[in-house]
Formats: sequence, C-alpha cells, structure tokens
Amino acid sequence: MNKFLPEADFYQEFKNTQLSHKTVLCFGLNRAGNELWDYWGYTFNIPGGDHAEKQVVQALSDLLTPHRLCLALRYRLTLYLSYSPCEDCCCELLAFVKSLKVVEVDVMVSRLYCTEEHPVRNRLQQLMASGIRLTVMGRKDFERCLYLFVNSNSNFKPWPELDAMSRRYSVDLHTILHEVGLSLIGTFIINVYEQCLVNISLLLDHH
Ligand SMILES: [Zn+2]
Repeated sequence: MNKFLPEADFYQEFKNTQLSHKTVLCFGLNRAGNELWDYWGYTFNIPGGDHAEKQVVQALSDLLTPHRLCLALRYRLTLYLSYSPCEDCCCELLAFVKSLKVVEVDVMVSRLYCTEEHPVRNRLQQLMASGIRLTVMGRKDFERCLYLFVNSNSNFKPWPELDAMSRRYSVDLHTILHEVGLSLIGTFIINVYEQCLVNISLLLDHH
C-alpha cells in the first residue's frame, strides 16, 4: 500500500465536479479510543485487476484475522473514496464486516458511481443495514482527507461548486438509502387504502 497521496492526484481524483476513470481510496485503521492509525495508506483500482476496495479489504483481513477472537480489541476503519463502491466492492465490504466483527466502518465518498442501477442501490442499502456508515464528503471531509493522507501542512483549496455538488450527491444518497423505508410505507398505505375499500363495499352491501 502507498502512503501519502500526491496533492495533484488528490485534487484530480477527489474533485466532485469532474469525472475520472480511476477510483482512489484512502484508508486508516485505528483501535477504538486511539487517535493514531495502526495501518493506513491509499490505493487505486488496477485496470483489468482488483478494485481499490478489494485490495484494502484483503490487506486488512490478513492483518486482522489473528485478532478475530479477541473481543477486547475494537477497530475503526475510515475510508475516503473518490467514487462510491460498485456492486462487487459492496459485497467485499459486507463480507469483511461480517467476518471480522471487531471492525466499525465509516465510508465517505466524493461522488456516486452507477447508482441509477438497482443492484448497486440494493447493495448500498445493505451496507447501511450492516452498520457501515456511508456518507457523501463535504468540505470538512475533503479538508480532513487532505490533512490526513496528503499533506498536513497544506491548506485545502476548495474548487467552485464543491458545496453544491456535495449537497446534490448527498440528497441522492439519502434517497437511495431510504427508499426501502419509503417503499414499505407506500405498501402500508396501499394496504390500508385497499382495506378501506373492502370495508366500504361491505357496508354498502350490508345496506
Ligand atoms: Zn468496485
């Protein structure tokens, strides 16, 4: 795994107003209550090879497997991703959290990837249901990512429309993560409505 992400790459890949063919992932693992990372760095998808998330999950599984049975240790994993995970990478993250229950995961994404596709939306909902926190990066998150993984002495230089794009992605993600609840409420309302119609027709028949 690489350590500090070059500053030019940070702005190129994390800028939420432009698209890229690459996904960059900055990650930090620390023990709960401990501010210092035990393991950290960044990686990106290899064309024709493993996606960034899979590489990190594999590296961390190797690192953490010996601690699997040590319940006293709780780890926190923080991920800054330039794109939200694809369907396969969601599965990787879900399997990782399931197999190593000592890990809490925070995923912050700059942009959403293929979220118009239903299987991707379903997987993102599963991530949330499994306890993984998934949010869209705002100005403070970009600033923190730069501080932690790029250069702690460099001042963050925001780009035009950063906040507007962040809000837009955030609304989209919120809609995706809560559409399960909405569809359940919708089903409930339809059921109540249908039951009312049945009752009315019974009343009419009775008279
Ligand atoms: Zn992926």
